[in-house]
Amino acid sequence: MGDEIHVLGAGLSGLSAAIILARSGREVHVHEIREDSGARFDGDFQGIENWTSGIDFFDEMKNWGLDPNEFKSDSFGVIDLIHPDDVITNPRTDGVAFRVVERGTAVHTIDQGFKRMALESGVNIHYKSKKQPEECDIVAAGPKESSAVAFGEIFETEHPNIVAFKLNDKLAPGAYSYMIIIDGVGLICTCLWRKQRGSGRFLNETIAWYEQNYQLHRRPIKRVGGKGDFGLPKKYVHEGRIYVGEAGGLQDFMWGFGMRYAITSGVLAAKAILDECDYEREVRKRLVPLVEASAINRFLMNRVGNRGFKLVANYWMRDQDRSGDGLRFMNWLYKPGFFRRALWPFVRRGMLRKKKLKDGRDIRRMPFRSSLARDSWEPSDRALEIAEEWKSVQRTGGNLSFSESEA
Ligand SMILES: Cc1cc2nc3c(=O)[nH]c(=O)nc-3n(C[C@H](O)[C@H](O)[C@H](O)COP(=O)(O)OP(=O)(O)OC[C@H]3O[C@@H](n4cnc5c(N)ncnc54)[C@H](O)[C@@H]3O)c2cc1C
Repeated sequence: MGDEIHVLGAGLSGLSAAIILARSGREVHVHEIREDSGARFDGDFQGIENWTSGIDFFDEMKNWGLDPNEFKSDSFGVIDLIHPDDVITNPRTDGVAFRVVERGTAVHTIDQGFKRMALESGVNIHYKSKKQPEECDIVAAGPKESSAVAFGEIFETEHPNIVAFKLNDKLAPGAYSYMIIIDGVGLICTCLWRKQRGSGRFLNETIAWYEQNYQLHRRPIKRVGGKGDFGLPKKYVHEGRIYVGEAGGLQDFMWGFGMRYAITSGVLAAKAILDECDYEREVRKRLVPLVEASAINRFLMNRVGNRGFKLVANYWMRDQDRSGDGLRFMNWLYKPGFFRRALWPFVRRGMLRKKKLKDGRDIRRMPFRSSLARDSWEPSDRALEIAEEWKSVQRTGGNLSFSESEA
């Protein structure tokens, strides 16, 4: 390897590291198994959160020299929060709660923005290139196994821009569904935190719900999705290799907001190679407490159904009434007090399973939970129609970029 730096994976974490290293004069090679950055995704919208730190993430990116203007983003300070009993309330903040970006290979996606920054900085990206982790200094290869999956449909609509978030254990077992509409393109997605056969039925029912409650006049384009891998490794540097992003288990167990962790850990890895910090120490100081807090919250979420979700939604709104800021509740979730911290030994033992990975790393990972009896239900008539509608869209070229076998 010598003076060259080899990075496995041209996703957000790998490219962030590569950009910083190349700008410091290092020869950087990024090896990406797919044909392009962002090819893991296919035009879906994702949110970059602004609640795990007091610093606006775009300001943090600018401080690292990463330019948020390289890709399209839309800021939101308000959402429709849909309670399990279909009541809709509006958590809001004066600032930016999160920004929606598009993932994929189109020119305005965050993935292509990072790719452009990397190429301009002199990074050598080798697409369709297969390397072993042992041959690389930084492993940024994303999730390996599934702890949860998200499955969504992209459609055209005339509905104005909106982000709606529905806590509902039936439509999204153990989790939530969401609808994001940006400039005439919508995404309705359901997240499954319990493994299901036939995830399509959850998506069809979710779409039916949003359609009944918003004037969408959907014109389906394609279906997208992917998996999330949640785990806490014993070490983030193993046999001299630095593990970043989801390859290092740096994911948000509660909601699956991993982009901020991916970029931050990529930057920290580069700084460690440049002798500006100790990666293991910095990740444990900055990111692991957030991951652990999210795991504690996930442990609690796994124990409740819709009644518990309703309590969460009500608490969120009461907190907003008291403080005048809907984002404060989200900040609070990542700063566990005594009660939640005291649960940590139970979370480790009760929710995480010890595993030795192929590359020799010891990890405690969250397995994909089994389905429950309540996950079996008869689809509504409208959901069945939506399933048929999707089949006909597929016949005319509608693409499904995610299969259940990936889960
Ligand atoms: C459907 C869905 C919705 C999501 N929504 C959100 C959201 O709203 N907000 C949020 O913050 N996060 C969200 N996430 C999570 C977020 O996308 C990830 O946490 C983040 O992209 C992880 O970045 P990464 O660089 O670690 O991995 P990736 O983005 O997966 O990049 C890894 C790269 O490595 C490549 N690779 C894999 N194996 C190899 C190999 N052997 N050799 C070479 N290359 C390899 C892959 O092709 C990929 O390009 C979502 C995830 C999914 C699936």
